[in-house]
Amino acid sequence: MTGKPLTGKLHVVGLGPGDPMLMTPQVAEIVAQASDIIGYQTYVARVPLRADQNRHASDNREEIARARNALELAQQGRRVCVVSSGDAGVFAMASAIFEAIETGPDEWRALDVEVLPGISAMFAVAARLGAPLGHDFCAISLSDNLKPWDLITHRLRKAAEADFVISLYNPISKARPWQLGAAFDILREVKSPETPVVFATAVSRADENIVIEPLKDADPERADMRTLVMIGSSATRAIERPGGAQWLYTPRRAER
Ligand code: SAH
Repeated sequence: MTGKPLTGKLHVVGLGPGDPMLMTPQVAEIVAQASDIIGYQTYVARVPLRADQNRHASDNREEIARARNALELAQQGRRVCVVSSGDAGVFAMASAIFEAIETGPDEWRALDVEVLPGISAMFAVAARLGAPLGHDFCAISLSDNLKPWDLITHRLRKAAEADFVISLYNPISKARPWQLGAAFDILREVKSPETPVVFATAVSRADENIVIEPLKDADPERADMRTLVMIGSSATRAIERPGGAQWLYTPRRAER
């Protein structure tokens, strides 16, 4: 068989945190044009499908297999859209696609692959709170599926010592029930007991829930798989509002 021209296209997109209004118009357009939509079943289910579109929903742990499947379909000339939640490059499918390309057949390097940005959970959470990411910050995934736990604790301690605002993605799951509590213990060794800790669950969805409590009282039981946990820096401040609500912000200026 002679080689077919590579006319397919692979888009890797983030659908945003949940509210369809927080999906970029660019992503909505590309999803609508795709012949094949691939992703973790929960995310694929968020995409309205037409009868002429194929849906390939898979289990969350099959990232590389899913990436290879997407690349094969693009190679066959299809318009493939790989979907993640939030931003596709933040603890999500874009890296899996490039890992599959790097370790796959040479022809995949000639494929037309484009990553489109999306609103990551930490930006949706920050906007709800006020402006907690107004100065230096970092994001850490607490999942030890793909990295050893001692690397996570090492980075957590260094991030706390460097006084970043810290966003914890994947804080807890059925298979990882104790890690968030252990993470708080490390943070308590370094940071002030009054540091604000935000538990932001299902932000921008119907069951959104946000709780702020000081690090000394932070209760890991508040988190589930849909929660982003954000921990303030020493500069992060609360502004009390009537009725007990508050804004959180981190000033533009920092001191050492
Ligand atoms: N690519 C995604 C992150 C995938 S990891 C992004 O950029 O947002 C999955 C984790 O993201 C969840 O465990 C949770 O920590 C966070 N997350 C995703 N959607 C969220 C939402 N609507 N509200 C709060 N946290 C969310």
